[in-house]
Amino acid sequence: KRSLTTKTLGREIHCFGELSSTNDYAKVLIHQGVEDGAVVLARRQTSGRGRMQRVWESPEGGIWMTVILKPHLSLADAAKLTLSTGVALTHVCRELYGLDVQIKWPNDLVYQGKKIAGILGEVVGEWNAVQTLILGVGINANLEPKDLSPDIPATTLKELLGHPINLNDLVIAFLKSLEIEIKSLTEGDIEGLRARWLAYAAGIDKEVQVEQAGQGIKGILKGISSSGELILEVKGQEHLFSSGDVKLRSS
Ligand code: ATP
Repeated sequence: KRSLTTKTLGREIHCFGELSSTNDYAKVLIHQGVEDGAVVLARRQTSGRGRMQRVWESPEGGIWMTVILKPHLSLADAAKLTLSTGVALTHVCRELYGLDVQIKWPNDLVYQGKKIAGILGEVVGEWNAVQTLILGVGINANLEPKDLSPDIPATTLKELLGHPINLNDLVIAFLKSLEIEIKSLTEGDIEGLRARWLAYAAGIDKEVQVEQAGQGIKGILKGISSSGELILEVKGQEHLFSSGDVKLRSS
């Protein structure tokens, strides 16, 4: 049986049967004053969100959690924690389950193109005043395909492995791995993060399509810049895209 061996992450855990969204509850906790590394967990979310207020379906059986961080980082580096989270979760899925999970920029984990987990990072309050960041993580763990809308290209750990997994073990291993990634970023090792991210990224050197303001731009996916933007090669020229306003599709 695994036990929590982190220094700060998950030392304070708030568990619920149901929440509207673990990110929203984390914001309430922050106003009340909460420890760095506190974690919010819910068995289901009634209004889980993806990027740009898109719906994130969160029925019972998944892992719906938020990690609250007060990192000693500039805002630009703190924004990279979304990438660190993707690296940590991918690492753990590969190590615990031997699954060839990949990262779809900027915030999704996919298995053969199907989404298995999502990450939503948000800064709370003014950066200099409060310096709090929340990392929402949703993992389709012990769900079955019928638990999610049929039009969503998703998969689950249970479906891929053919059996349910131990949710505690996954949370514990993920928090450990995330703590290591946070430490490395705090020590300034951005190139290390970039290399690990690149090793796990889906679609590198392949043709993809980026959608920006309803417009599709085709190009070859080259990687991410040191500030976390997507690098796309279009007609021999490199273009950078930030995660706020674009969607990535395999073309
Ligand atoms: P894309 O729709 O191209 O994946 P995105 O990466 O920006 O865009 P997010 O905003 O991160 O997506 O997540 C929201 C989307 O994820 C929803 O529009 C829906 O299609 C899908 N989705 C919702 N719930 C789940 C879930 N539990 N598992 C996998 N995918 C989901």
